[in-house]
This record gives sequence, structure tokens and C-alpha cells, in this order.
Amino acid sequence: IFDKQHFKYIILGGGVAAGYAAKEFTRQRLLPGELAIISKEAVAPYERPVLTKSYLFPNEPARLPSFHVCVGSGEEILLPEWYKEKGIELIIGTEIVKADLASKMLISASGKIYTYQTLIIATGSKAVKLTDSGVQGADAKNIFYLREISDADMLVEAIRTKNKGKVVVIGGGNIGLEVAAAMRINKFDVSMVYREQWCMAGLFSPTIASFYEGYYANKGVKLIKDTVAVEFEADLNGQVKKVKLKNGKVLQADIVVVGIGARPLTELFEGQVEEEKGGIKIDGLFRTSVQDVYAVGDVATFPMKLYNDMRRVQHVDHARQSAEHAVKAIKAREDGKSIEEYQYFPFLYSSYFDLSWIFCGDNVGEPVVFVDAQYNTTRPSPTKPKFGTYWINNGKVVGAFLEGGTAEEIEGIAKIVSLQLEAQRDRLEIYGMLVAGLYG
Ligand code: FAD
Repeated sequence: IFDKQHFKYIILGGGVAAGYAAKEFTRQRLLPGELAIISKEAVAPYERPVLTKSYLFPNEPARLPSFHVCVGSGEEILLPEWYKEKGIELIIGTEIVKADLASKMLISASGKIYTYQTLIIATGSKAVKLTDSGVQGADAKNIFYLREISDADMLVEAIRTKNKGKVVVIGGGNIGLEVAAAMRINKFDVSMVYREQWCMAGLFSPTIASFYEGYYANKGVKLIKDTVAVEFEADLNGQVKKVKLKNGKVLQADIVVVGIGARPLTELFEGQVEEEKGGIKIDGLFRTSVQDVYAVGDVATFPMKLYNDMRRVQHVDHARQSAEHAVKAIKAREDGKSIEEYQYFPFLYSSYFDLSWIFCGDNVGEPVVFVDAQYNTTRPSPTKPKFGTYWINNGKVVGAFLEGGTAEEIEGIAKIVSLQLEAQRDRLEIYGMLVAGLYG
């Protein structure tokens, strides 16, 4: 006997994109019983970025239901009851282990079959693990990754039991920086180890990075650059105790948190759908190479019209926007109408300690640093964290970064970059902040 269920729409994955897509379905037109969200996670869609930030804080940590979607865009929080009221089936705690796109069928780990008319793939990414590359001892206890709320819960438990011990954070990207800050706030002795010469090397210029590195050092975080972990040693209980680095150093550790990147979850569809740049290839209306199958969020490689390029973006702003746009495209198609193709303008943000930055556009060309006009220097000062960087390419501003900006300045900067204003380096160096304020 087959246990089978059919839906007009299935969203596979119950993360950020799924939640924003569900909301958009209800804004458009949705009948009870038409939509199901199938998720491996045990909870309704939530704002994932919270997991490395306030979820880990010692005082008044963020807990569900306070950060279910769509709180991140300032809209109503979609509690599990909301899905029920709208007649949306929230099939949580359910992993899909096989997808057959030709026969429009998904099969769960427990053997249940789900069929659909239209599928939206929103499986997101998974953390790259040290065990993937065979690092010795990397399967020891208390080595953590952060992707899902269950991962964060295990780290929270370790924070409680290892109370103020030693933490080694591996990876100098955003996850590494955020977790290192959170662990320091929890009064752990924190070391960060990363392969690159400076942190957030994919985004930050060396000047931007040197500000954050100085700030972290002032907060007591030890930064060990230009090396990687090659071996972990555990005690008799299998709990991690030491981290050996390629440069010969050995670090004591009660907790290790690894943030070395994320890979899109495309395995289920391998050989069934066209892929590009590691993700599922879609067009400007989120259509994959298979009829009635769409992809959104981290997993999708889409035409980035602004840069005439195919790209994959692993940021929450894109997850939200792509989900909404995909649902609009699906609905328009059903109604025989046409809508504009997706025009994504990259916008990302993060926060550590009492700092917070935004970045928009593309970080290509020459970076030009500017600081708050009251401080007559072209280097950001660690005491007054307000500065930025514009990237100039072929005489135009194509990207911008801003630490500590006001809402108006952030808006101004985004405008300058999206308009690709022509600018001169020396002017921007002096008037960069002022210009941001003027456009805001
Ligand atoms: P996800 O939100 O990852 O959701 C995917 C969902 O699919 C998950 O629920 C997963 O369990 C489920 N799934 C996958 N495979 C299956 C399967 N086979 N069966 C059933 N379910 C499945 N971005 C920023 O811009 N700023 C930040 O500060 C920031 N911080 C972050 C902090 C952390 C800890 C993480 C992990 C990410 C952060 N991001 C940040 C990135 C951002 O959260 C992602 O880009 C976003 O969540 C992508 O949304 P998504 O819906 O595509 O995937």
C-alpha cells in the first residue's frame, strides 16, 4: 500500500525562501489544500541569520517563535497556526530522499510519496565539513557547524556545559566572525583560525578587514591567519581537546565551531536538471530546465542582469526576493500574463559586537575608503566605527560597503551604487560619507 499525497504546489525545503514564498502565495491567490511545504527541519520557516547572532547570546537570546519569517522584512510573523489558517500543509521533520522530476514525485525517508503539479526547489545549502576533506579527528564531539536550528541548539548546550572554556573558531568568513563575537560575549576564550591573509577575504578589502581584525583583537579574540587545522585530538570521552594547525601551533579547545563555507543542496536532482556554477540553473522567471520545476534562494544559479552574468547568491535578501518573484511568475503564467524578469541588486549585511555593516553591488575595481567627515583621516579608527568603501570600476561606482551608517546613509549608498554614478577617487575619499547622506 502506497502512502501518497498530491498537491498543486510543493515547496521542497522549509527555510527562508519557503516562508516568503508561502506568504506571496497568499497575497496572490491560494485555495486551502493547494500548497505544501516539505522540510527536514522540525520547525516552521524562520530567519536563519539569527542562529549565529542573538540565538547564541547569554542574555535574552532570541528564541522561536520570535524569529519565524517574515519578521526579517518587518511583516507579520508566520506562526505554525498561520499555515493552518491558510490551508497550507506544513510537512515538517520530513526529509525527501528521492526526487523523480519526470514523474513529478518526491519520496520521503519514511517512504511516503508526494506528487505535485508545480515544484519549487528551495533546499538551500549545507555546511562544508572538515570530515568531507578527511581532516584527522574531525568527527570528535564538540566540533560544531551552524546551518539549522538543531545545530544551534547543540552549540547552545555546549555553551552551557563548557562554561567560559576555550573556543577555536575555524574559518574567517561571516559565520566565523559572527560566532567568534557571540562566543566572546559568552565570555569564552576565543581563537579564530583562517586560511586567508585577512578575514572575509571574498568581500572585504585589506583596509576594511584590518579595522575588524583590530576591533576583534581589542575584544580579546586571538586571530591566527594564513593557516588551517590539520588534526583534532580528543580525550577518552571523544570530546575535542586540541586543534593542530598546519603552521605547527597547537591550540587547546573545549568547543570548536567550523564555518568554512556552504554548498547548495542539489544532489536530489543530479542528472535530472541543468546545473551551472554548482547550482540549479534557472532563467529570469525562476524556471529550471524541467517543465513546472522552479528553483529559488541559495540553490539557484540565475541571470544577474546587472552584471550580465550567471550567479548564485547565498544571502537572505536574495532568498526572500527570489521566492516572492518566483511565486509571482508562477501565478502570472497560470493567468497567461507576463511579468518582468528578476532584477537582483546584491545587498548583504552582518553585525558583530556593537558593529554592523552593509554591502551592496559588486566588489570589483578599485576600493576607495572614506571615513566619517568629523575624523580627518583616511583610515578607519577603531574607536569611532563609522566608515565605508566605494568600489570604482571604469570610472563608475559599482559597489559600496558601510559600517555604522544611519538608515539614510545606507539608502543613499544603495542608490549611488544602483545608479552606477560616475565618480572620482579623490572626491569620494573626502566626501564619501557626505554624498551617501545627500542621496539618502
Ligand atoms: P535555507 O534557509 O537554508 O532553507 C533550506 C531548507 O531546506 C532547510 O530547512 C532544509 O532543512 C531544507 N531541506 C534541504 N534538503 C531537504 C530535503 N532533502 N528534504 C527536506 N527538506 C530539505 N545571509 C545574510 O545575508 N546575512 C546574514 O547575516 C546571514 N547569516 C547567516 C547565518 C547562518 C548561521 C546561516 C546558515 C546563513 C546565514 N545567511 C545570512 C545566509 C541565509 O540564511 C541563506 O542565504 C538563506 O537562508 C537561504 O534561504 P533558502 O530558503 O534558500 O535556504
